[in-house]
Amino acid sequence: MTKGGGRKRRIAILGSTGSIGVQALDLAAHLEERFEIVALAAGSNADLLARQVLRHRPRLAAVADPSGRAALEAAGRETGCALAFGEEGLLAVAGHPDADVVLAAIVGAAGLRPTWHALKSGRIVALANKESLVMAGALMRETAAAHGAAIVPVDSEHSAVHQCLRGERVEEVERILLTASGGPFRTRPLQSLAAATPEEALRHPVWDMGRKISVDSATLMNKGLEVIEAHWLFGLPLDRIEVVIHPQGIVHSMVEMADGSVLAQMGTADMRGPIQYALGAPERLRGPVPRLDLRSSPPLEFLPVEPARYPCLALAYAAFRAGGSAPVALNAANEIAVEAFLGGRLPFPGIARLVEEVLGRHRAAAVPALDDVLECDRSARRAAEEILAMKVLA
Ligand code: NAD
Ligand code: MG
Repeated sequence: MTKGGGRKRRIAILGSTGSIGVQALDLAAHLEERFEIVALAAGSNADLLARQVLRHRPRLAAVADPSGRAALEAAGRETGCALAFGEEGLLAVAGHPDADVVLAAIVGAAGLRPTWHALKSGRIVALANKESLVMAGALMRETAAAHGAAIVPVDSEHSAVHQCLRGERVEEVERILLTASGGPFRTRPLQSLAAATPEEALRHPVWDMGRKISVDSATLMNKGLEVIEAHWLFGLPLDRIEVVIHPQGIVHSMVEMADGSVLAQMGTADMRGPIQYALGAPERLRGPVPRLDLRSSPPLEFLPVEPARYPCLALAYAAFRAGGSAPVALNAANEIAVEAFLGGRLPFPGIARLVEEVLGRHRAAAVPALDDVLECDRSARRAAEEILAMKVLA
């Protein structure tokens, strides 16, 4: 593994065709002298993956859905890149022997097994796939410790906390304060949320992101998942991880220390900042991210969360406190609910209601192994689909 200015960091990307993956490849293009792409994996967009293969010349490319393999095969022939398909292909990228760092950027529960496999292979995992920590945080941490792997957060809030805690003692942390923009519906009248459309929900005021996380930002489920993620990354109990609304998205998060001193990390709202930090840590590289000029920034505001506007946040705290499999059910129900909302099968407030219904029926049990987690994920999805089919939430 490179620590200093020595050889290039060799990178494998899970989810290279998504919002995070594409931004990581943009960074790799800007920092060609520091980053080398050795393996790429995507879900279904084989055409884009093929273009990425031609541009970045990895040694291995994999696509989960093999139906678009023709385009990829042509790119593979031209570049000599090996190809792999299905879940096996994802795992081959996750455990690629030449990678120093695996960027885990598949969205949702689909990222769990590949992320776990990267940890089992002892890699540095630059973790964007927060759902895997929500579903199986204890297992991920144990696996990392057992195989000498490290987890470096990509999420901007956790990257901020990670940066604030460089050189600090974790025992001296009093509270973590995660900032949230509040999403596109922060000031919309509550009674009109039932009419909110997918298009409106996808129009995030600060960040340009994938569809699922954009809806999660509108409900604040994203922040609920991030509270759980912060627990597994930094070890604080949930009553010491709080959320502050900060509409400008400039303070990426804060840490309050034992003596009352509050440390904050700031930057422009450009995900390439935290991605670059995770790929290069502990080094700080001169990359393409625009610099922050506070003199020309809007005034910074910090506001409390309105619980009635964002019921998903309390559901996430409650699921974590219920323990065991409850966060798995929370995540699965949310994934189904977001899909249903985007597909026009559920009104916006129905997302929280569906998650609440699934959690209400769920009997939390221990999920000691990965297969237990995946089984619980499947059964919570079935429960969510059954409730949706009853149309009681419409
Ligand atoms: P996205 O929807 O833009 O991209 C998802 C990627 O996952 C794509 O490459 C897709 O092909 C792949 N994928 C989807 N289903 C798959 C499957 N079944 N098997 C294999 N691959 C599959 O999502 P995104 O916004 O890039 O988010 C990725 C992760 O990063 C999420 O966990 C999200 O919460 C997290 N994250 C994203 C941002 C952001 O700015 N986009 C910020 C912080 C955290
Ligand atoms: Mg975030």
